[in-house]
Amino acid sequence: MLVMKFGGTSVGDATRFQHVADLIERVRARHPRLAVVVSAIAGVTDALIRLGHQAARGDPGWAATLEALAAQHRRTVDALALPPAEAAALEEALRAGFGQAEAVARAVAALGELSPSALDRLAGFGERWSARILAAVLRARGVSAEAVDADAFVVTDDRFGEASPDLERTRERARAHLLPLLERGVLPVVTGFIGATPEGRPTTLGRGGSDFSATLLGYALDAEAVWIWTDVDGVMSADPRIVPEARTIPELSYIEAAEMAYFGAKVLHPRTLLPCIDRRIPVRIRNTFNPQHPGTWIVPEPRGNGQVKAVTLIKGMSLITVEGRGMLGVPGVAARTFATVAGLGVNILMISQSSSEQNICFVIPAAAAPRVVQALRAAFEREIARRDIEDIWAMDRVAIIAVVGAGLRATPGIAARVFNALGACRINVLSIAQGSSEYNLSLVVAESEAEEAVRRIHAAFYG
Ligand code: ASP
Ligand code: MG
Repeated sequence: MLVMKFGGTSVGDATRFQHVADLIERVRARHPRLAVVVSAIAGVTDALIRLGHQAARGDPGWAATLEALAAQHRRTVDALALPPAEAAALEEALRAGFGQAEAVARAVAALGELSPSALDRLAGFGERWSARILAAVLRARGVSAEAVDADAFVVTDDRFGEASPDLERTRERARAHLLPLLERGVLPVVTGFIGATPEGRPTTLGRGGSDFSATLLGYALDAEAVWIWTDVDGVMSADPRIVPEARTIPELSYIEAAEMAYFGAKVLHPRTLLPCIDRRIPVRIRNTFNPQHPGTWIVPEPRGNGQVKAVTLIKGMSLITVEGRGMLGVPGVAARTFATVAGLGVNILMISQSSSEQNICFVIPAAAAPRVVQALRAAFEREIARRDIEDIWAMDRVAIIAVVGAGLRATPGIAARVFNALGACRINVLSIAQGSSEYNLSLVVAESEAEEAVRRIHAAFYG
């Protein structure tokens, strides 16, 4: 059993739908038990969300947005030149779907407000349409394919916009729904992105959530692997816009991939891998536009421990420092600092404390820095008055660079190579943290030097 997912750019227009159908046919010759997950056509989810906001604020332009979407889908279907019966059935299904979307938009316009649940209902239409188109294209080629709406079996909580699936219920329902189809030799073409609460209210798994849908399905159907077809040759060793020499990483562990995602690489959302980790299901990232390329395998135990796999970058950060000689004697400064930040709901990406205990540094998104500094100054008012804490301040326009790879901590010389590479070009490192995890070494540099720093570090390991 294999699950394959195709992203929005992979089904960008009629030619691409045909190309995806080619790929599916080729793979299916070797993997007859196959399920496919599909995203909305590129840009459609954005347009649906825009439409919802237009309707809510009483902008009659929502109708034109919807009509443009309908026209785009009609054009795509026309260009597919399907057999007349298939084309007629598909047009009818799409007409009904657009009718439903219009009804939701009208309700939103009447209420003058877009609830998170209405937004999910709207945002999820794109997948329903693309799945129907892809199933029709496959049927026109003689593949017995059927579009399946995942809200019938992806059971989630009611955190609309970013719902969490209930793995076991989803597994049970997905099996009840899909195994009979598979037994009959039918290829299910499943909508990505969407689910429903136990009461049947439509939800979405968050932007980019179709990857998650695919791994959920892989889990539910005990797939031997999940292949995610996208528009790049796999996971890269650095952002190719910054490092032209960046390469595809052949193998990564789940943890390495999650670490990269956490530190800003556009890999997979960390949640995506969760369903696969338990059952050790490998996830493979492949390029729809370059299917000869083997892509990246994300597996439980990759080869190449102790190697730097990737250098990632997150910009737009601030480095907050709490500093003072008297901190040594004051208990709980760290705890109070982080409790204060947590109380503001601000995410800390990296922490370091000097062993002399004279300062604590941590990195947060720049937008939150003024609030955080203000709250900390208030929280430590007494310590500041007593001069136990001398200053609390933010350094803006910094970036976090993370060097990611399993076993880095146990491998001598990695840090030295990183710092030599930066020293040679006089880039100043503002703060360092080696995670207690052995999976990364992260450092903070000025944003203006960050891209050069990434290039230098990448060259030190991949040069
Ligand atoms: N269509 C959804 C989005 O644009 C889900 C996905 O593409 O994975 O976020
Ligand atoms: Mg997408």
